[in-house]
Formats: sequence, C-alpha cells, structure tokens
Amino acid sequence: MPEFLRDINVTTLAAPLFIVLILAEILYIRFARRGGAYESRDAAASVFMGLGSSIIDGLLGFISFGILMLAYRLAPYKLPVNWVTGAVCFVLVDLSYYVAHRYYHRSRWGWAAHVIHHSSQHYNLSTALRQTWTGLLTGAFLLYVPLALMGFHPLLIGFCFGLNLIYQFWFHTEVIDKCPRWFEAVMNTPSHHRVHHASNPRYLDANYAGVFIIWDRLFGTFVAERSDDPPRYGLVSNLGTFNPLRVATHEYAGILRDITRPGLSLKQRLLYIFAEPGWCHDGSRKSSRQIKADYVARHPEHAGEPGL
Ligand SMILES: [Zn+2]
Ligand SMILES: [Zn+2]
Repeated sequence: MPEFLRDINVTTLAAPLFIVLILAEILYIRFARRGGAYESRDAAASVFMGLGSSIIDGLLGFISFGILMLAYRLAPYKLPVNWVTGAVCFVLVDLSYYVAHRYYHRSRWGWAAHVIHHSSQHYNLSTALRQTWTGLLTGAFLLYVPLALMGFHPLLIGFCFGLNLIYQFWFHTEVIDKCPRWFEAVMNTPSHHRVHHASNPRYLDANYAGVFIIWDRLFGTFVAERSDDPPRYGLVSNLGTFNPLRVATHEYAGILRDITRPGLSLKQRLLYIFAEPGWCHDGSRKSSRQIKADYVARHPEHAGEPGL
C-alpha cells in the first residue's frame, strides 16, 4: 500500500481551496451582478454543516473503514495499487456513489440524512459544503463493500471517494452556464447539478451522478436543464430555518412522529421509514411521482417530456 494513501484526508486538504473559490464567487457575483446570490445566514449554516460533517466523519469513519477492511480480508485476490487499478477504482466508486445517491432520494431513511444537502434555497459554492451528519446511519457505505471484495484496498476506495467529493464542489454554481458539449455529455456539470437541486416537478429525482453523468444517461434518470423552466432551488416544502441542528434532524423527527401514530399497522410504520419520501397511508402528502403526475394533469402539453 503506498504510504501517501495512509493518513491522508483529501477533503480536509482541499478545504483552503474551497474557501478561496467561495470568496472568488462572492466577489464575482457582487461585481458582475450575475451568477446567483449569497445570503450570509444561509452560507454560514452551510459552512457550519460542512465542518460538523467532517468532524463526525473523522470521529466515526473507523466504523465504515473497519467493515471495508473486513471485506477486503475476505477478497480472494488483492489488487495492486497503481494508475490502472486507481482509475478503475475511481470509476467504480463513482458508480457506487450514483447508487447510494439514488437510494438517498428514493427511501425516506436515506433522505432523512441527505435532505441537509438540499435544504438551501440558494445554489452557490457554499451549498456544496452542506453535507450530512448522519451518513453512517444510512448504511450506504455497504454499497462500497463489493469493491473491497473485488480486492481494491479500502484506503484506495476512501481516497477515490474523497476525490469524488472534491470534484463535486465546483459545479455548485450559477456563474458557469454550460460547458463544452463533449464535457456536458460525459461529466457532471453546473447545469446538470442545478437540475438535481431544483424542486420543479420535471427536475425532481434526476441527475444523481457524482463525477460522470453517464450513469444517469445509462439508467434513465437524466434530465437536461431547460431555459423555459429555470430551476427553483430547495425542497418541495422548505424548512424556514437556518438552524443546523434542526436541518440535520427534522426528517428523523418527522419519521418518529409518523411511526408512533396510533392505529397504524406494522407494515405502514415500516413504510413511513423506508418508502419513498412523501409516502403516506392517507393521501395527505405527495411523493415526487404524484407531484409529477399532478403537474402533467395541469399541463398536458408537457406530458412525456424528460422527467415528467
Ligand atoms: Zn441529492
Ligand atoms: Zn449538490
């Protein structure tokens, strides 16, 4: 195992770069009078959530790492670490990220953790720092176990995961409109990820990619940004709070309220935890599928378009 992968936390190393780029974006928006907006309370909450997330990951990372090490010990063949295995690992980590991210959006248990990242009504570089505090609870790290069983060293998996997160920083911006066509075709970009953060019906549950947008194109979840339907950022029902503790816990509190209601069957209680966000037993809330169906019923001329 190359020494440089030991004791290296790439996202922490990149923190100064994040700060410089955020300051540059603030200055650009101020002087160019375009490219989005910053709201100080919102940006401060994002930075605080990013700090909290790295501290919790630093304290509890040994649990997921330990499980990946156990799987790696079981691997019949241990792959060497070189440029080729590193590149293959990077691509496979990105595929695992796509699956994990899709689970975060399609199961309320994953959503309860990931909702933090979508809780800002702004879209700028500081939004990228809004990371979950409860990622471990989702169990999504288990999606990386197959890579360890294939013989990729967990330190290499962790390194690729860190690079993946760093890549995802720069495209949280409205300063860049579209990149060159070939780049938009293969890579995740500001335009593709603006769609992911939007609550317009056609954009819900689209563009889960981390680095390569090809996964969304392959698995049918890609929706292109349209100039006639500009993204509205935030949640379907926004929280109306900048309090990081409330942002980090509100969906868990909602789950607790729902599963302790009287008169529900065990199956209904389980569905309140694991079914898609917005699922309910009495028709009082809407899932993204119902929101899309309602939109198409009101605007039949858009039926059949991507995302609807
Ligand atoms: Zn997301
Ligand atoms: Zn994002």
